[in-house]
Amino acid sequence: SMLTIWHSNMEVEQSYIMIKPDGVQRGLVGEIISRFEKKGFLLKGLKLFQCSKDLAQEHYKDLKDKPFFPTLIEYITSGPVVCMAWEGDGVVASARKLIGATNPLQAEPGTIRGDLAVQTGRNVVHGSDSPDNGKREIALWFKEGELCQWESVQTPWLVE
Ligand code: GDP
Ligand code: MG
Repeated sequence: SMLTIWHSNMEVEQSYIMIKPDGVQRGLVGEIISRFEKKGFLLKGLKLFQCSKDLAQEHYKDLKDKPFFPTLIEYITSGPVVCMAWEGDGVVASARKLIGATNPLQAEPGTIRGDLAVQTGRNVVHGSDSPDNGKREIALWFKEGELCQWESVQTPWLVE
């Protein structure tokens, strides 16, 4: 249909969401994925992954001059993470709201960090801060062919 043709030409917003090693170790993988699933975003990529120091440093390159950078890299590489690509209109800003403030003590109840974490240095989850960074980070963490093109049967019940 015209609608399908129009929609397939649109660039749909994507966010890179990552469950950090503490989230994996604490058994929060299902809980965290569930928040995004229930909200109604579309899962386009998912893997458990042990990342290298190089990749962690590239991902967080904007923070390389911060005093906490070395401990941040140690934390992110300390065990497997869960890498995800989520898609939908407004997904980047909405995911940031679902995740909550960087410092879990300041994160609102009902957010992932507000409900499940206590310290900035162990704040269980990452979410891209802009659509451009969403693209950059998904390209960084996923290889060609690791994302799935699919349509959810829920879509007509989520968007009019
Ligand atoms: P985010 O976008 O909410 O994740 O926050 P930032 O982009 O500012 O920082 C990236 C990540 O670095 C955070 O999620 C924390 O894991 C870590 N981080 C930021 N600030 C601090 C800090 O002051 N101390 C420590 N230990 N880690 C920090
Ligand atoms: Mg950030």
